[in-house]
Parts: sequence; structure tokens; C-alpha cells
Amino acid sequence: MSVGAPDRRTVVRCALARVCGHCGQSLGRPIVFLGDAEEDARNAFHRPPLHASCAVELHEREPDLVLVRTGGFEFVRPGGEDPDPEPRFVPNSRL
Ligand SMILES: [Zn+2]
Repeated sequence: MSVGAPDRRTVVRCALARVCGHCGQSLGRPIVFLGDAEEDARNAFHRPPLHASCAVELHEREPDLVLVRTGGFEFVRPGGEDPDPEPRFVPNSRL
């Protein structure tokens, strides 16, 4: 799966099953998100959660992305008036 183009089905599946967006195995801690500077600033990430090792591997391919470690996250599905129509992940505490 390309980390650059998250597809919504994968994103939702990873969120609900709490599996890694790269290897598909269960997530432990820390959970890592990769995002661009804007996602980092908003603390809202569109790519699925990752294992630390998987995130490092993907980060090597896309070094411009920011790597954020967290102990947990909230999965946000946008409401009708939400300016961001995509489901997203909000890390609840950065490690
Ligand atoms: Zn993984």
C-alpha cells in the first residue's frame, strides 16, 4: 500500500480493527502517524496508524512527512458541516 494515497476503506478498517496500515498486524504502542506539515499542525492525520518500525520504513521513502508517536488516538468521522470531508485520526498524547 502506498502511504501517499490512503484509501478510505483501508483507513476505516485500520481504525476499527486497530491494525497497522502498512503490515496489517495488530497495533501495540507506540502508535505512529505519518503526515504532512499541515496535518501535524492540525493534529489530524489521514493516513492509517502504523507500528513504529513500519512508520520508519515508510518515512525513509517519504522523508518530507512528519512522524508522530502517540499512545493512542481518536478516530474522527466527519459530520455534514465538517470542512474536512475525510475520516481522520487525532493522536491523544504525543510521545
Ligand atoms: Zn506494521
